[in-house]
Formats: sequence, C-alpha cells, structure tokens
Amino acid sequence: MADNDETLTMDKVVSLAKRRGFVFQSSEIYGGQSGAWDYGPLGIELKNRIQRFWWKEMTQLHDDIVGLDAAILMHPMVWEASGHVANFTDPLVDCKKCKQRFRADLMPEDKLARKECPECGGELTDTRKFNLMFKTNIGPVDDGSGLIYLRPETAQGIYVNYKNIVQSNRMKIPFGIAQVGKAFRNEIVTKNFIFRTCEFEQMEMQYFVKPGDDVKFFDYWREQRWAYYQKLGVRMERLRWHQHGPGELAHYAKDAYDIEYEFPMGWKELEGVHNRSDYDLTQHQKFSGKDLQYIDQENNNERFVPYIIETSAGLTRQLLMLLCDAYEDQKVADKGNDDDWRTVLHFHPELAPVTVAVLPLMKKDGLAELAREIRGNLKEDYATDYDQSGAIGRRYRRQDEAGTPYCVTIDYQTKEDGTVTVRDRDSMEQVRVNKDELQEHLRSRIRNYGRK
Ligand code: ATP
Repeated sequence: MADNDETLTMDKVVSLAKRRGFVFQSSEIYGGQSGAWDYGPLGIELKNRIQRFWWKEMTQLHDDIVGLDAAILMHPMVWEASGHVANFTDPLVDCKKCKQRFRADLMPEDKLARKECPECGGELTDTRKFNLMFKTNIGPVDDGSGLIYLRPETAQGIYVNYKNIVQSNRMKIPFGIAQVGKAFRNEIVTKNFIFRTCEFEQMEMQYFVKPGDDVKFFDYWREQRWAYYQKLGVRMERLRWHQHGPGELAHYAKDAYDIEYEFPMGWKELEGVHNRSDYDLTQHQKFSGKDLQYIDQENNNERFVPYIIETSAGLTRQLLMLLCDAYEDQKVADKGNDDDWRTVLHFHPELAPVTVAVLPLMKKDGLAELAREIRGNLKEDYATDYDQSGAIGRRYRRQDEAGTPYCVTIDYQTKEDGTVTVRDRDSMEQVRVNKDELQEHLRSRIRNYGRK
C-alpha cells in the first residue's frame, strides 16, 4: 500500500524492501544480526543484474580490461604490506556512562572537544584507534599462529595477481582488472539499512598505467564512471563529485574523488575513484621480495612499477541507491481515497528483477492457458512473472511495487484477434500488440528506454 505522501524517507524504502522480498534482516527470528542483511528473491535478482551491468560495462565494453575472482582468505602478509594492519582504523570514543560507542570523525566537533556523549551527555573516553579488519583463525589450533583476516577490500587480490595476469593473458599497459566480491569490515556505525554493513560486496576495477600517464587516466576514469550512472538511468541531479582534501586522503592515495549520491539521510559516498600511485605494488614488492616491475617490450624493455587508478564501488550500496532513486509514491487519480496512490519503482528495464509480468484478465474461458503459453514463449529471453489472482488494477500495483516495467494482459480480444495489451509501468499507458510481435516489441522498448 502506497503512502499518501510523496516525500522519500529511508523508512519507506526499508519497509518496501522487506514487504516485497528485496532485503531481510539477517537471522531475524533470533532478533537480527547487526551489520548483516539477506537478499530475498527480488533483491538477489536486482543485485545480480547490477553486477552484470557493471561487469559488461567494465569488461565487454573496455577491450583492455579482464576479470578475476580472488579468494577472500589471503596470506596475512598482504595486509601488512597494504598498510591495513597499521592504518585501516577508525577513531573511536566510548561513553563511560551509557557505554555507547561512536566514531570520533562522525561526531559533532563541539561534543568531541568537550568529551560529552551526544546521546546521554556522559563523559567520553579518549579517542582510540580501532582496526576494522575481522580476524579469524585458520588451521587446527587456535593459538594465534593461524591468524588470518577476512578481506576488507577486493583490491589486494587484484594487486597480488597482476603479474600472473600480465604473463598468462599477455596484457600490455595500460590495462585493467575487474573483480566483484565480498568484503568485511568491523563497522561500528551500521545504521541506515544496507548503506554501511559489516559484510558487503564491492565492484572494483584496478587500472595499471605507466607513471606519468596516471593523471590522464585518472581524468578518463572519472568521466567513464560518471557516464556509467547516466546509462543506469539514475537521476543525475542527485549525484555529485567530492574531492578528498589533504586531511581526507588515504595513506596510499595521490588524488581521490568520490561520487556522492543524495540519499534520504543526505549526501553520501557511492563510489571512489582513486589515484593510488605506485604505492601498492611497491609495498608488495618490498614485502614479498618478488620483482613486480612491468617490462615494457615495446619500449626497449623499460622497467617500471605501474601506477594504479582504482574505481571502487559498493554493489550493495549501489542497490540501496537504486532503490532510493527508483522509489516513487505517486498520486495517480483524484478520487479522495487510497486507490489514488501507487508506489512504483522506476528501475531501468535491464535492472528490474522481473522484466515482464503476464496477467490473464480472467482465469476462466481458456485465458489462463493462453497466458501461460505466452509466458512460456517469453521465458527464454526475459525474467517473467505470472499472476492470475485479484482485480487487474491490484495486480498492476503489485508489479509497480516490484519495479516490473511491462505487464502483458491477455483478455477476450486475445482469443479473437491474437492481440495482447502491453502496459507501461512508468506512464501506465497500454497498447495492443499482436502476440507474435510481442518479443520484438519488448526488445525495442527496452533498447529505447528512457526515464521520463
Ligand atoms: P567510509 O569512509 O565511508 O568508511 P571508505 O571511503 O573507506 O568508506 P572505500 O574503502 O573507498 O570506502 O570503499 C569503496 C566503496 O565500497 C565505497 O564507496 C562503498 O560504496 C563501499 N563500501 C565501503 N565500506 C562499506 C560498508 N561498510 N558497507 C557497504 N559498502 C561499503
């Protein structure tokens, strides 16, 4: 049921996500596990599609980028070399009275200066550094000798494989390696739904360039990443760049920009584009003792440690962004009752969990059989749904809430002349199309989709 109010709030998004099976709280029957969420039937479809969209953009549309799937568990020296053991920390303060824990860098400055708890006014401890990496143990004994970390980012798996990929796939600089996978961070502040979680997924691409070419490719990748969101059909006025100031730059970064999105709780980071210089490979060279220089065979075998331009996006964060971006409580009539409103998710048809819903107007008179047959013909090419229960208007609303861009309705006229109705989610307009031309009709609508 839609809220009779157009304002977007995170509560509305959370409630729809749960109601329609996008996202559930982890271990909910035990009271929930903070920092972890489960993706339901519509959520996993959406997540897979975002991943596919990103993967195609990176690998299929860029001739010089290849993929990788590295393990989550890596040699602990990786994290020494990367600087994560020493530097991957958040500054934390605890309240001595109410025992709540806060990130000092996210607290109001006056409260921090006065060491005053923002919740209860109690006294705060000094700021301490808290490492965000999850530690666990590998092997049969738990005496610390098998210390191993759950990776806090996917990037390092790419760096330690860069030489393998140069050799096995004969990659020539400049080239990139793309990877999607889980990452884990012991985040203290995990409010705002799936925005910041302890277990999440990243979509990262590391682009290896010759030193001196880094500024040029940094600009190039910023342009590319901006264009990606245009293709996704996101409301561009809700996106902006934020350049990291000197105090914000990570220990490895020469220059860094975030793409920020205006979430209901304000402007927040969506993706980072970073010039990581030669920091990572130099460090791994030092710690592993292996030569990680690139040999430029086209340039008198010149040797150098490549610079790296990184584009680092959160997959699960992008899913939240798309839910917020697509969400609309829309007034569709003026009769003074609840039926006047609908909740609709305006997903790009290539991202929508269901592309086509097939609905027989009635179950009887052979309409259901005909509808199942039409669905059967669409299945190979599209994610379909079938719904025969309830009034047709209600069924459209259910599909609107799931973000299904097209509903195909089978009625008595279908039996007579073989035409079906195609109803558009965004405009709610209906056109009649011959069922034999349905595939081609949908294909061209999807190809020419533009959000109004
Ligand atoms: P923050 O400063 O907000 O903790 P960060 O700048 O450390 O984040 P990066 O290390 O640059 O984040 O991570 C790259 C991307 O991974 C982010 O832009 C975000 O989309 C995603 N990401 C990072 N941490 C989380 C998390 N805890 N939960 C969900 N997504 C995350």
